[in-house]
Amino acid sequence: MIRVGNSSCEGRGLFATAPIAAGTKIIQYLGVKISKAESARRKAAYNNYIFYFDFNYDIDGASLENTARYVNHSCDPNCRIEKSRQEIWVVAARDIQPNEELSFNYGYDARDYERFPCNCGARVCCGYILGREYWGEIPQLRGKGTFSAWGEGSAGE
Ligand SMILES: [Zn+2]
Repeated sequence: MIRVGNSSCEGRGLFATAPIAAGTKIIQYLGVKISKAESARRKAAYNNYIFYFDFNYDIDGASLENTARYVNHSCDPNCRIEKSRQEIWVVAARDIQPNEELSFNYGYDARDYERFPCNCGARVCCGYILGREYWGEIPQLRGKGTFSAWGEGSAGE
């Protein structure tokens, strides 16, 4: 269903090899459960594979066995993340065609947004790897065509 390939925007990426229907659980995001303190330490060391899991724990997906680590961020993604108590899955947010690159919104908060510029190439790209719910918190994005094109309250699925 998927393969690793060269992304047009950011190193390697994950691509569909067959049509994937909306709602399909595509791949599990594998990683090690770590405390928030450990998470902060690893993030400061530029580990970009840390995933918010819940109030107490994050997931570090940096290990090579975690193929889902190749899924790039997009401001206009074709996948979303679904979490259960034990698992994180990359799920098709819409129908996906063969050879389309998979993406989801990494959902970073606005705290250190300037450290994470975005090159996703989406028409609506906000310029940063940033959860949609935070776009309104960034002063530089207000009044920008890419941001105002969405209007308030249209974020999310
Ligand atoms: Zn973007």
